[in-house]
Amino acid sequence: MSMEIKGQVVSGKIAIGQIFVFRKRIPVITSETTNDPEKELSSFLLARDEAIEELKVLEEDATEKMGEEEAMVFSVHGMLLEDQDFEEAVKEGINAGHNASFAVKKAGDDLAAFFASMEDNAYMNERAADFKDIASRVIRKLQGIEDGIKLPEHPVILVAEDLVPSDTLGLEKEKVLAFVTSKGSTNSHTAILARSLGITALVNTGSEFSDDLTGQIGIVDGEKGVFTIEPDEETLSEYRRKKEEIQREDEELKQLIGKETRTKGGQAIKLYANIGNPSDAVKALEYDAEGIGLFRSEFLFLGKNDYPSEEEQFENYKEVITLMAGREVIIRTLDIGADKQADYFNLPKEENPAMGLRAIRLCLERPEIFKTQLRAIYRASAFGPVGIMFPMITSVEEIDQILDLTETVKKELKDESISIGNVELGIMIETPAAALISDLLAEKVSFFSIGTNDLTQYTFAMDRQNASLEPFRVPNHPALLRLIEMTVQNAHKKKVRVGICGEMGADFDLTKYFISIGVDELSVSAPKILALRKHIRELA
Ligand code: PEP
Ligand code: MG
Repeated sequence: MSMEIKGQVVSGKIAIGQIFVFRKRIPVITSETTNDPEKELSSFLLARDEAIEELKVLEEDATEKMGEEEAMVFSVHGMLLEDQDFEEAVKEGINAGHNASFAVKKAGDDLAAFFASMEDNAYMNERAADFKDIASRVIRKLQGIEDGIKLPEHPVILVAEDLVPSDTLGLEKEKVLAFVTSKGSTNSHTAILARSLGITALVNTGSEFSDDLTGQIGIVDGEKGVFTIEPDEETLSEYRRKKEEIQREDEELKQLIGKETRTKGGQAIKLYANIGNPSDAVKALEYDAEGIGLFRSEFLFLGKNDYPSEEEQFENYKEVITLMAGREVIIRTLDIGADKQADYFNLPKEENPAMGLRAIRLCLERPEIFKTQLRAIYRASAFGPVGIMFPMITSVEEIDQILDLTETVKKELKDESISIGNVELGIMIETPAAALISDLLAEKVSFFSIGTNDLTQYTFAMDRQNASLEPFRVPNHPALLRLIEMTVQNAHKKKVRVGICGEMGADFDLTKYFISIGVDELSVSAPKILALRKHIRELA
């Protein structure tokens, strides 16, 4: 029987296809004890051997796709699993009466704590995360839990309770027609990902999805925010017709490639793209982005078991810069923390991670990670125009520290006779503090980009991930507009350019206003660019 479910629109087109329900299974250790240590030991040895085999396949795969250096982490994990220390620690736990899952978890945690406590040895400290990682791989094997999302062979409408960046990272995106999630908010990073891929998505439907839905036909209407399950024939043919109409409109928009982004009255604004990796840059070019306004570099750090090396980062940035062929590329330095977590950072558990040791704060606390990234970006700048942008700035002092570090990195590269290009430095205005002192910050940098997603979260003390706050959100709240306007005015007094790279940049209802206050550039997900250009060209 046909059923309609309402959700919040993330990105809106129409998708028709088979439903696939993804249910994340989290390993649970229900009891600590066992009556049958022998059975637990043989289960452990079997699971460990399966994990070692899996790591070999991952290593081969990664060597082929990303190179030996990237693949090394898998061979290291294989070695740690084969090592006697780990096996002995688990055996000890089982002999003490623990079941296999509990003994593995305890062995992983104990070894991790031991390595984390080694003073003044950053290399050994980082190995702590490896032990946690191998333990959770073995526990997943013990409990028969698959890694990541395994999609069927054909394209599907992916339905889940919620999706976090690490779920969507390894996803074969060409197989996803749409996302529908019962939780999640329109500003979450999964929503951002859906927008950047131009995938239809609905979040926060509030409903439970049963596994039986897998294989049934669904329609996701990303304009009205409706998910229809098992539609009747009439509804299906109506939606097929609408889908064709949208495809025709998309074809028409392509006529705007190469055209100016200017209102009828002659006011120009630049349209840049937000990206997370080199394949997004290909999309950005396809939609004729005039530059990259926000390269979320942290995506390079997610879904990994160890820090990406300077070389790997350099290759990645260079690839984007080369692809963009002379168009400006603004790379935002690492914005890890909050919902973007990577275990190997070994971040302390915080009560409020969105307001914690994240983004620039983490980079200034761990200058070796930051310097590696800066070196990679400066080296890549030899291949085209680059802007480096720093996230979550709240004070002039932070910028002074950053400038010291950039000077050190430049000098080091010069001493090594490595050439660099012309790099402009800018900051994100995404905390109320930064907006309020934008006059002072403008003295220090060449450009600003307003991150309205976080600026909204921190101005209103409203968690951007929390869907239950939706009724309290006031669109175009004057508090936010005042902060934006103030930032633009302060920037322009010092000849600093200002872009908007948060999701508000793609809100058609605000485009006219942004142009009227003098915003220089809007950076949006690539699939929005041509429609936004059309809209701007029709403005008075
Ligand atoms: C923002 O905060 O508006 C922004 C663009 O950055 P992110 O969404 O990655 O936090
Ligand atoms: Mg932000």
